[in-house]
Amino acid sequence: MKQYKTLSFLLGLLCCWPLVSTAQSVVSHSQQQALTILRDSVAMRTVAGHGKVPELAQYLTQQLLSAGFQQQDITLIPVADTVALVARYRAKPGASQKPILLSAHMDVVDAKPEDWLRDPYTLTEEAGYFFGRGVADNKFAVSVLTATFMRLKSEGYQPSRDLILAFSGDEETLMHTTQALAGEYRHLIDAEYAIVADGGGGLLSEQGEAVSFTIDTAEKTYASFTVTATNPGGHSSLPRKDNAIYDLAKALVKLDEFQFPVMESELTREFFRQTAPLIGGEVGKAMNDFVRGVNKAQAITVLRSKPEYIGSLGTTCVATLLSAGHAENALPQSATATVNCRIFPGVSVNDTLQTLKQVVANEHLQWQVLDQPKVSDASPLRKDVFDAVARAIHPYFPDLPIIPHMASGASDALHFRAAGIPCYTLSTIFQKSSDEFAHGLNERVAVHNLPRAMGIWYALLKDISQ
Ligand SMILES: [Zn+2]
Repeated sequence: MKQYKTLSFLLGLLCCWPLVSTAQSVVSHSQQQALTILRDSVAMRTVAGHGKVPELAQYLTQQLLSAGFQQQDITLIPVADTVALVARYRAKPGASQKPILLSAHMDVVDAKPEDWLRDPYTLTEEAGYFFGRGVADNKFAVSVLTATFMRLKSEGYQPSRDLILAFSGDEETLMHTTQALAGEYRHLIDAEYAIVADGGGGLLSEQGEAVSFTIDTAEKTYASFTVTATNPGGHSSLPRKDNAIYDLAKALVKLDEFQFPVMESELTREFFRQTAPLIGGEVGKAMNDFVRGVNKAQAITVLRSKPEYIGSLGTTCVATLLSAGHAENALPQSATATVNCRIFPGVSVNDTLQTLKQVVANEHLQWQVLDQPKVSDASPLRKDVFDAVARAIHPYFPDLPIIPHMASGASDALHFRAAGIPCYTLSTIFQKSSDEFAHGLNERVAVHNLPRAMGIWYALLKDISQ
């Protein structure tokens, strides 16, 4: 039965997937499995509100069982209409080290088929790319991690510590499954550290040469505030001295002119040190000067002029939404702006709010914190993790710089990190900046990534669990 199934998989692949044709006459069984899982998972529209994540989780469970995992080592955790999946790869008897967690997410941002050139929920291979919603974010990682677990299991590999696979089910929206994993179900995923396969990764130049490999070891706190000016208002033919729109506008001008103090950390210094030679020129020199403490004021001015680096130098806040007034011929009774902040790790949301209030210096304005921002500290730059990643990457890209980075937005790592599990976020996808379409139209990933990703994960998982 098993052989028949394998053969039918293979025939299916041969007929439909050129990856298996000409140049590569022999494609390993595990690569076929990864491709099959990618194809099948892209076909499931695991979008918030569609209730499809449990179907994908069941499918992945069946895959793992077919490779020899035990039912009791696989747990599905339902949360509303979605689910998290946890699978434990048991270590050989007598293992004493804490487990390592491998994480990705099964849900995707929705894609409207009428807007895409190809059906987003059918994996399509064309011109050297896989197209489809989730081929990059994050079903690629779900597929290659699952297939790698299956490969190791079917080879009879016995790790010297447990490896835990945890797939969340609503990373793109509420992250309730992630919070359940990090909270109530902590015992299922407790680990010495986590590798979160959803961010960072390999950067290729537009000519296709590898430039660097990034591991996110911290993320800034995402927090939004509203600031509101109110006024009794009245008829616009009878303007009064005070005015809600003017009061708010004056506050926003002050925020525009303000910059939060420069901050730095082990992580940002290492990021600048390694990025400087790759960038070169004025910006590269500024990074070097910043790290060495030479001409620092000038270096900060240069780096702050670049939107891609300003966030590495401290907290940033910017006005993003505005709403005011209620009629063309009435004095405004209220004016509200939303200010979105990316707070440097180690700084609290409340301290940031107090700073904004002091800068604006108008006690009549009302401030509010939106949602419930989650704060997480930076994870330490663990040499053992960086060295293991380097050993897995360098056979493909010798000497490629492996650079720590601070992410500017929220991912599953936020909740694991906040729960005290250090996180290292990386993707085994290597891509050009111009191929980045995650969350957008015609999401794609270059086909060459799949066999390489299988090789990298295989080497990395063995390395960290031996
Ligand atoms: Zn993602």
